[in-house]
Amino acid sequence: MIGTRGLTVRYGRTVAVADADLVAADGRTLGLIGPNGSGKSTMLRTILGAIDGEGTVTVDDDLVRDLTPRQRADRIAVVAQEEPSGLPSTAWDSVLLGRSARMSGWSRYRPDDERAAQQAMDRAGVTHLAHRHVDDLSGGERQRVLIARALAQGSTHLLLDEPTNHLDVRYQHEILGLVHGLPLTTVTVLHDLNLAARYCDELVLLHGGHVVAAGAPADVLVPELLEPVYEISVRRLDVDGVPQLVFGLGAPRPQDRW
Ligand code: ADP
Ligand code: MG
Repeated sequence: MIGTRGLTVRYGRTVAVADADLVAADGRTLGLIGPNGSGKSTMLRTILGAIDGEGTVTVDDDLVRDLTPRQRADRIAVVAQEEPSGLPSTAWDSVLLGRSARMSGWSRYRPDDERAAQQAMDRAGVTHLAHRHVDDLSGGERQRVLIARALAQGSTHLLLDEPTNHLDVRYQHEILGLVHGLPLTTVTVLHDLNLAARYCDELVLLHGGHVVAAGAPADVLVPELLEPVYEISVRRLDVDGVPQLVFGLGAPRPQDRW
């Protein structure tokens, strides 16, 4: 379980997250959505414990701020928004690196670590890429390697920041299908609301750092909520029970009635 309660995060005078509550139940995939600058990445970094805020962040029954870095790595793995590339390593080496988060000092990899890395690669479908250089992989392949690295860490919680950025349609669906199928408690930032509708169990909509809606995708992805937040007209169709949105056709509905 991942939970925040009354979470407020400031950068100097900027309030990036304001009194935000969120709950990702065990094994569920929670999507964080909202326009640029609405506080999604800040919220994710705070859950990870990389920045501190007012209020509480809990993982299972523990406050994240009370955990040591090593304990955090045991619990939470992360696929960050922009991973620095240019690492002189193969896919195998970078997945194995996921094990180092839970190792101390200069200890060496053990057979356990190699087994975990192998299993993670199988699960993410990248075993055949093991010997390839990460810089030579396509965006979708590289993203799956990063997910394998996070899985190798062996954590029960996974955080992802816009994991489908720069990927073509097929890879977007492939990556999110993979993420949704994992038996982990997951919080993922997503830009694409139609992908969020399809692959998340719950959504939290942020606007100016505030949670403006939370719940099942069908309850959050409603034009009345989205139009004032994104400032664009929204029409919704439901396809096989999945809400899908079309943007920018016609004027947004009037916000004020008088
Ligand atoms: P999102 O991920 O939804 O685009 P962010 O969490 O990155 O939003 O940003 C939320 C707000 O905090 C924005 O107003 C942004 O300009 C500000 N912000 C983000 N990171 C920093 C930082 N390191 N220093 C100062 N302000 C920041
Ligand atoms: Mg962001």
